[in-house]
Amino acid sequence: MHLYKRIMVTGGCGFLGSHLCDRLVAAGHDVLCVDNCFTGTKRNVRHLLDHANFEFVRHDITFPLYLEVDEIYNMACPASPIHYQFDPVQTTKTSVHGAINMLGLAKRVKAKILQASTSEVYGDPEIHPQTEGYWGRVNPIGPRSCYDEGKRCAETLFFDYHRQNRLRIKVARIFNTYGPRMHPNDGRVISNFIVQALKGEPITIYGDGSQTRSFCYVDDLVEGLLRLMDTPDTVTGPINLGNPVEFTILELAQRVIDMTGAKSRLIHQPLPADDPRQRKPDIGLARETLQWEPGVPLEQGLQQTIAYFEKLLSETPR
Ligand code: NAD
Ligand code: UDP
Ligand code: UDP
Repeated sequence: MHLYKRIMVTGGCGFLGSHLCDRLVAAGHDVLCVDNCFTGTKRNVRHLLDHANFEFVRHDITFPLYLEVDEIYNMACPASPIHYQFDPVQTTKTSVHGAINMLGLAKRVKAKILQASTSEVYGDPEIHPQTEGYWGRVNPIGPRSCYDEGKRCAETLFFDYHRQNRLRIKVARIFNTYGPRMHPNDGRVISNFIVQALKGEPITIYGDGSQTRSFCYVDDLVEGLLRLMDTPDTVTGPINLGNPVEFTILELAQRVIDMTGAKSRLIHQPLPADDPRQRKPDIGLARETLQWEPGVPLEQGLQQTIAYFEKLLSETPR
């Protein structure tokens, strides 16, 4: 058995994928980053390109891919509503055809495969916090459905390949995560608020701002993914990964204003369709199975993220 593994990260040029590549390269693994650069950018892995253990392959996972690897992290998929609604059919294809191709690859080479699923499989939930046993409340025909239903179908495929072909699978249900390398204009609440504050523009609160989310810092999340991949074969998930500390959107806005010293005022805009009212993970299973829980408080994570966007905005012509 090799100490170092050949590990493929689909979506490796994205926000989460690039941080994952960092950790895997640092651990000495041979990392193959597969990405079509739809929402991700080579800039996120620029510092790894000259590294002997890192390789970038430009490829769309909705098409077959033949490579030899030991482990696969299937992270490829646009993740923010603006991005996944830009070409909804391609979003579903990425989740469904992409999963089939990566599972087919894993089956052929007997690789272990992890799926980046999402809290969106719970839809607008009726139970709070969400446990893995909850089946969700998802609209199958709304503007978010390409993402939610695509991810749900990907989970179905993972479990059917597991049952039918004894594939070693790991399914992580990731809750809202933030940190450096988020897209500045992907419409996510943290990136929006920080960029608006840094530019002195009004902070856009959708609805009355009483809806809640819980935000996990990227380093914590990546640690959870690595631990999940290293569990015994009997552990398949799905397993929630996220930070259970819950904030209202109004509280988040105030926090960002305080930390940036912005003079921005708050303005209200309509709540998007199917916007979940509340979201907070129950991470009991992750605590027990992975001995994992997030360690970075919002204040500290926001500091890192604000610093990242300050630098990015200073480099980008307005
Ligand atoms: P991201 O958009 O930054 O990264 C996704 C990457 O996938 C990008 O680099 C993009 O170019 C690539 N990609 C998209 N379609 C592809 C295709 N067909 N073939 C190859 N590459 C493709 O998003 P992220 O926030 O890093 O999310 C990564 C994964 O985690 C996604 O699967 C997402 O659904 C999941 N997730 C993220 C969050 C979060 O809060 N960031 C929450 C839940 C789940
Ligand atoms: N596949 C791939 N790379 C591989 C093996 C398979 O991309 O190394 C794709 C292949 O195109 C196929 C899909 O994965 O469509 C599913 O593979 P599987 O073996 O499960 O199904 P089958 O080939 O029998 O349709
Ligand atoms: N939101 C907001 N202002 C923004 C962007 C988002 O009030 O500028 C709200 C959005 O309506 C949602 C929450 O913040 O209730 C989180 O939105 P995001 O898109 O970041 O994540 P998701 O809805 O996918 O959890």
